[in-house]
Amino acid sequence: MKQKLLFTLFSVFSCFSLFAQVEKLTVATNWLEDNKHELNIQEHHTFEMLFSRAGLAGETFRFYQMMNGVQVFDAEVTVHVSNRNTVTYYASTYKDSIQTINTTPSITETEAFNIALNNLNVEVSSIIQQERALFLINQNNETALAYRVFVQAYSKSGGWEVMVDAQTGAILSSKDIAIYYHGDKDKDKKKQANKQNKSVSFMATGSAMIYDTDPLTATSSAFGGQFVDGNDATNAALDAARTAVTLLDIELVGGQYRLRGPFTEIAELTSPNKGLFIQSTNNFEFNRQEDGFEAVNVYYHTDKSMRYINNDLGIALAPPQNGGVIRFDPHGASGADNSFYTSGTLNFGEGCVDDAEDADVILHELGHGLHDWITNGGLSQVDGLSEGSGDYWANSYKRSLGLWSVSDAARNFVFGWDGHNPCWNGRTTVYTGQYPTNLTGQIHTDGQMWATTLMEIWEDIGRNKTDRAFLEGLGMTNSGTNQENAAIAVRQAAIDMGTAGGYTCADIQAITDRFTAQGYNMPPYTCNLSVDEFAANTISIFPNPTNGIITLKNIKQEHNAIVFNMLGQKVKNQTVNITSNTMDVSNLVTGTYFIKFSDVDTVLKFIKE
Ligand SMILES: [Zn+2]
Repeated sequence: MKQKLLFTLFSVFSCFSLFAQVEKLTVATNWLEDNKHELNIQEHHTFEMLFSRAGLAGETFRFYQMMNGVQVFDAEVTVHVSNRNTVTYYASTYKDSIQTINTTPSITETEAFNIALNNLNVEVSSIIQQERALFLINQNNETALAYRVFVQAYSKSGGWEVMVDAQTGAILSSKDIAIYYHGDKDKDKKKQANKQNKSVSFMATGSAMIYDTDPLTATSSAFGGQFVDGNDATNAALDAARTAVTLLDIELVGGQYRLRGPFTEIAELTSPNKGLFIQSTNNFEFNRQEDGFEAVNVYYHTDKSMRYINNDLGIALAPPQNGGVIRFDPHGASGADNSFYTSGTLNFGEGCVDDAEDADVILHELGHGLHDWITNGGLSQVDGLSEGSGDYWANSYKRSLGLWSVSDAARNFVFGWDGHNPCWNGRTTVYTGQYPTNLTGQIHTDGQMWATTLMEIWEDIGRNKTDRAFLEGLGMTNSGTNQENAAIAVRQAAIDMGTAGGYTCADIQAITDRFTAQGYNMPPYTCNLSVDEFAANTISIFPNPTNGIITLKNIKQEHNAIVFNMLGQKVKNQTVNITSNTMDVSNLVTGTYFIKFSDVDTVLKFIKE
């Protein structure tokens, strides 16, 4: 949403006042204006607010640095406005050294795209997804106009970013920006990709056998004996370690069942091509030596985690790519003993223990995705922040199952089946390194500090409150955020959710104490949590975007809900309450809408597709 548009709306709505949205944007815009000096912003530099996310802790606005309508790559001031309409957190990757240059390119976007494909040695027919856009970047202390081309291709594992000089056509850089779960890969940066229209289908229920989270955790066993990889062979013990589960909302078309649902779907993204496991029965029972096993394992765990986030935590979150549905390749990454996340896709390798046999790997990769989507592509790997976030997401789930006792070392293992064995060491959430003294510069190693501290907080205040603060806090950060500033954001999210989110002063103190003990320098905070008057602000819409029925979450009383279009015209009017909390918007034309509720200062935005 562009800032100018919202200001226009403000005048249209002046008699109603579009409270939440406009007031918060005004607060954020005024704050940026007032803090230009502190942020060292040059007079001739400009910003556009191109993305905002309203969540349980308030609304976060991303002001992207611009010149003549061209975005400066990876440069933004991120401003968080609480439910009390005050700025409680900000983060800046503003680039003060950007010079004023000619922003009219000499080559076309298509020419740049072809130059990039040639550089990558990728055929058009092999492309899974692509992005291309014009940016300003700093290159060797000079500002350059460049096309950023991102390509994910079946024939070339990873997610490739090529910067092409928009004046000369020269390649400025070319690198794999996919995020791997171990190894030495760099940070990710991504934007929009193609949407995909779904064919008419029915949602069905399936049955399956999966590992929850892995055969050792399910049976309290140690690696060894029958519990070994054995070159992917199964045996009686490994079969018995499976758990029977229900697969929700899988696709049924023409009598064929497919692992495709409202949150996640199987796809063939990189070699090896093991197929999509489309079948005529809804019973997806496989053992670990069958390739369908990994497919079902990923469907089940990604679907379950996304439902938990959206339905249980009340945080609307989905990838911006592929119509909001994750795509996963259970046998990809060219077969490496590694997996990666890139641009809304999860890609699992098969070396040693198949990666998708261990929910820790699945949830770690999903954790990168959550971090990427909730920051609109502003995922940070400073101090291994995203690695630690993925490890936390995996261990938070594993520990919630309660299958290991406190004295079991495996309770703290990340990659407890894929790693912690002769294949590789895996990672842990009882890492003893102190911040910043013991930072090694290796992102996977350093990320363990972050995951470890979050799990300590998890023990103190519980899973749901820690997960909520973790996600809402990450949503306030950007690509320049280090562990310490992420810790401050997570605590601030808990403060901003306040009592409406179930947080107490004791919770905030526990968060402060754990972060401080890890070595993060936490600003002083005197507890003064919001009270129930802000509870109304936690009403949210799901799913968003939508093409049919929307559900209003956290409706606590009866309201008259009025839907307005972008012109401020009333297009729908309905009474909603605790038991009747859905609205059918299928007859509205494609576009952005607002819902205002009687008796509360809340205006929500949604997109009709
Ligand atoms: Zn990773």
